[in-house]
Amino acid sequence: MPSNEMQPAQQLLLLMERIYRYGMTTTSGGNLSIRGADGDIWITPSGVDKGALTAEDMVCVQADGSVRGKHKPSSEFPFHRLIYETRPDLRAIVHAHPPALVSFSIVRRIPDTRLLPNERLICGRIGMAPYALPGSEELGRNIAKVFGEGVNSVMLENHGVVVGGQDLFEAFRVFETLDYCARLEIEASRIGRPTLLTDEDYEIVKKSALSLPAHRSEGIDASELEIRRTMCGFIRRAYDQGLFTSTQGTFSQRLNGTDFLITPYGIDRKYLQPEELVRVRNGTSEEGKLPSQSVRFHQAIYEQQKHVDSVILAHPPYIMAFAVTDLPFDSRTIPESYILLRGMPKLSFESLYNEPEETAALFKPNTPIAIVRNNCIVVTGQGLLNTFDRLEVAEYSAKSILSARALGHVAPIEDDEIRDLKQAFKLED
Ligand code: 13P
Ligand code: ZN
Repeated sequence: MPSNEMQPAQQLLLLMERIYRYGMTTTSGGNLSIRGADGDIWITPSGVDKGALTAEDMVCVQADGSVRGKHKPSSEFPFHRLIYETRPDLRAIVHAHPPALVSFSIVRRIPDTRLLPNERLICGRIGMAPYALPGSEELGRNIAKVFGEGVNSVMLENHGVVVGGQDLFEAFRVFETLDYCARLEIEASRIGRPTLLTDEDYEIVKKSALSLPAHRSEGIDASELEIRRTMCGFIRRAYDQGLFTSTQGTFSQRLNGTDFLITPYGIDRKYLQPEELVRVRNGTSEEGKLPSQSVRFHQAIYEQQKHVDSVILAHPPYIMAFAVTDLPFDSRTIPESYILLRGMPKLSFESLYNEPEETAALFKPNTPIAIVRNNCIVVTGQGLLNTFDRLEVAEYSAKSILSARALGHVAPIEDDEIRDLKQAFKLED
């Protein structure tokens, strides 16, 4: 599995490919660097197609200033160097111009990380550096000054963002989360005024943190291994479809009775391996692994809802726009949406933390899915594919509604047509 043990050039390649693949940089924009323990700075080359890099394209600027490699180092090397000089604790830097963060950079605003519970913790404090010529020492000084205040993420006026981290994977995670916050705030602002979490809300989350008692694993048999593999396939697919971010998005699957498998806490969804999923048995979790923080809620659903055998909690940006504003979500857009999503109520922010059992009781066959305010979407289903499909349909429907509002009046399917749909597709009342 990819890690910071890999060669610096390989890490730069892997994460630049990831940033490009998920639409967070253009061919010409952005640069990444890693500082080794020896003081060497490994950096992406200047002006080489970001969509077609190889490890051999990476450049090493040694501590004495000499350059090794077949290209020139990034034109932004001056700010990378100045940040490392100012902050000896940082070992990696990500810089890019993802469209949503550029939107904030050109209105000179910092995205709000208080729309959902985990983003503020992941991103930390965010600063803003005044505009200066790209590649200049002045830009470097402007950015390094903000890093010098102990901030690890800095928005650049009329340019983009720079994020520093203990390693490149951490810097990427913060960068991706900040971009996610920007996308969410933009989408939410199209339909209303986004509501922010309060200090009391954060207290509720903190108080509910739990650890389950552990059980020793008896090994994974062939059929469980197959389920774990299939789950990892769907988790990666959810990441690829923009339904999960690196560390957010929880997937669980019933095994037998109330035993189930669930995603671990804080491990990158893109590289998740079958053996990293956590088995929960009789309210205890596999020794040495940390299950998702929502594990108690998943357990309550499996105990109460015999028809459910798979659950997803996710935060895709279009559906979350409805979760952070007051606009109700109406699934009567097209038959596919109504059939898969049904009523789709909005639940209170604290419902998952303070009353997981009562909340789990809502997920009857006629209510497979619900939005939780400023929190997530809960999706239940009869199998991994069915649950995944529901999540995808919810996000696509939300995207359609947001776009449709820009075009004109949104006409829902009429009541008598809904009656016909229920009859034809045998939908429970
Ligand atoms: P380089 O290709 O020189 O790294 O420049 C990209 C960039 O983002 C400049 O700010
Ligand atoms: Zn740039």
